[in-house]
Amino acid sequence: KDDGRNTLRFFVPEMQASLSQRMDMERQLRAALEADEGLELYLQPQYTEESIICGAELLLRWQHNGAFVPPDVFIPVAEDSGLIYRLGDWVIKNACEIGEGLKDELSDREFSLALNVSPRQFRQKGFSEKVLEAIESHQLPRGLIELELTEGLLIEDVDDTVAKMLLLREQGVRFSIDDFGTGYSSLRYLKSLPLDTLKVDQSFVQDVLTDPGDASIVRAIISMAQTLELEVIAEGVETEAVRDFLISANCVRFQGYLYSRPVPLNDFRALLAREREQ
Ligand code: C2E
Ligand code: CA
Ligand code: CA
Ligand code: CA
Repeated sequence: KDDGRNTLRFFVPEMQASLSQRMDMERQLRAALEADEGLELYLQPQYTEESIICGAELLLRWQHNGAFVPPDVFIPVAEDSGLIYRLGDWVIKNACEIGEGLKDELSDREFSLALNVSPRQFRQKGFSEKVLEAIESHQLPRGLIELELTEGLLIEDVDDTVAKMLLLREQGVRFSIDDFGTGYSSLRYLKSLPLDTLKVDQSFVQDVLTDPGDASIVRAIISMAQTLELEVIAEGVETEAVRDFLISANCVRFQGYLYSRPVPLNDFRALLAREREQ
């Protein structure tokens, strides 16, 4: 029985890990990376208004001593310790492998495969080149890979950000702003950046029916996206009522438990196959 030594099992994202717990976690995560064991990318499908799969977000899973450690817990540890560079490389490589493996199944549709990029990873020198190399070595079609960046990252060091984005954009990489509405990017910045999509943060989406303030924010974000000619996707869509509200507010892309939780690659394949049979 290893309950006693597995302290990670009891973490929920809200909890702050103590320093020694964080050091343990860092060591174990490093070992997991070195052995390439226990890490996996899950896919959460994204849907059109007609409920056709039009993309997927890749979400990292770490299974450790038989339990999943939430990414909200281990990603910050990786960020603080610098392990995020290796972890980020792992994500890029594995994302491209998944993209390559799905190429044929996806050839009948517009599709984007979105990966989360942490600020420190994006700031790293040579980040763009690294991504382009991976895309090229897996011969991925233009427009397949989408990078999810956060608002905070976009507004700091704008010159470096734009330079990196343009280099990637030239080769067909797409960009979305994650958790949109929780930061404070101005219209001016949004307009000057090579962006494709705004992802409305789930904290607004989930309360649109009960919180008039959140409903106004979501409407405002969607109309702002239209003005800027950006796509908009709502994440955290859990009920049909919320989806109906979003449709009435002109949202055209949806992601959330109403449709599917993040699932392993084979389950995602099954979702695609089932769609094709219909
Ligand atoms: P995020 O990028 O905002 O990802 C969305 C989170 O919402 C995911 O949590 C997803 O499982 C969850 N979610 C999706 N639909 C629903 C829904 O309908 N209701 C609710 N309540 N939740 C929903 P997850 O997978 O635990 O990831 C948490 C965060 O960890 C992510 O937030 C992201 O910031 C980070 N993360 C995950 N994978 C990676 C990665 O590969 N690299 C980096 N840098 N960060 C990652
Ligand atoms: Ca995300
Ligand atoms: Ca998000
Ligand atoms: Ca609220």
